[in-house]
Amino acid sequence: MDLLEYQGKQLLARHGVPVPSGKPATTVDEAVAVAEEIGYPCVVKAQVQIGGRGKLGGIKVAASRAEVEEHAGNILGMDIKGLTVHEVWIEEASDIASEYYASIVFDRSAKSSLVMLSTKGGMDIEAVADEDPDAIAHLHVDPLLGFQDFHGRRLAFDAGVDADVIRPIGDMLAKLYETYLEEEALLIEVNPLIITNDREIKALDAKVTLDGNALYRHPENAELTDPSAEDPQEKMAKERGLTYVKLDGNIGILGNGAGLVMSTLDVVAQAGGAPANFLDAGGGSKAEAITSAVEVILSDSKVTAVLFNIFGGITRCDEVAKGLIEAFATINPTVPFVVRLDGTNDVAGRELLAEADLPNVHTVATMLEAAEKVVELAG
Ligand code: GDP
Ligand code: MN
Repeated sequence: MDLLEYQGKQLLARHGVPVPSGKPATTVDEAVAVAEEIGYPCVVKAQVQIGGRGKLGGIKVAASRAEVEEHAGNILGMDIKGLTVHEVWIEEASDIASEYYASIVFDRSAKSSLVMLSTKGGMDIEAVADEDPDAIAHLHVDPLLGFQDFHGRRLAFDAGVDADVIRPIGDMLAKLYETYLEEEALLIEVNPLIITNDREIKALDAKVTLDGNALYRHPENAELTDPSAEDPQEKMAKERGLTYVKLDGNIGILGNGAGLVMSTLDVVAQAGGAPANFLDAGGGSKAEAITSAVEVILSDSKVTAVLFNIFGGITRCDEVAKGLIEAFATINPTVPFVVRLDGTNDVAGRELLAEADLPNVHTVATMLEAAEKVVELAG
């Protein structure tokens, strides 16, 4: 789960990482009230989960009440790379002497966490990695040893930070690592990490990704949602406890088991089609869950045909058939369905479907035939 900049900063602040103080606002009036409290100059920052807001006009320094009004008015509602800004973060302005870069990311290939530090912050770090890879110091953390003080100093030294900030930067890296570990994050990126004219260090920006599978251990983090990033279909599916990922094609997919659904996406693509979603109804799905899943799939107006690919293990094919029949009774779909039922109670399931004689439902025996049929029907 990705956090907004200010949610990330508040998380870091709880672990003792210095950040500029600020408050969020969703209206111009709120922004002005916050600015009056913080004082001037302050910075108005668009809260959307995307980098490069600065270059796109989503970050403005305001020297007065009138300027906050102007900037907040322009930024709220602004479109940044396809995301609408619903919230701004108003914070005290910082005077910047240097912009550094720091991050911690889980490096799967090395099976450990990677800490990076560079004095070339503020800009696009991918460009730095391409053009001047030596400018980024890195260190893989041994999970048994943890992140030690000497690691922080070594990184600071390798990155070539100013001598007077070697220790404070080492301390900040240790706190970032503590946050990363305790909050079960997959990524923490601070770009820029700034040195002020008074030689203080602060996290000026924060990009934090938390491990969604660990959120049940962090109920307060689970509440940090971003209304602008949530896709309506994905939200609906989440509320119904379904595993659903929206894709950009037009063929709705429902299967049981993540492996089967992924193979279904592959087979549909191989047959020349474009899946509209990934939907895993899970093992042992009852009729009600199937009806609920059909509603989610059909709420995407791009869907022109649906493929049900069920392999009955603990899931019973007759239950799936009942679910589909109920779904047709309640929502009356207008798009064609292709159904492949195989495994436990498949004969009973196919009989139920034959008896119900649903309009525009095609029962097919194999996965490949099913994929070809649905691609043909989807147009
Ligand atoms: P991003 O563009 O989405 O990565 O947003 P950042 O929060 O990293 O801000 C981009 C740039 O805006 C920073 O690198 C700074 O140069 C500038 N900036 C952000 N906040 C302040 C501030 O308080 N004072 C000053 N002078 N510049 C700021
Ligand atoms: Mn940034």
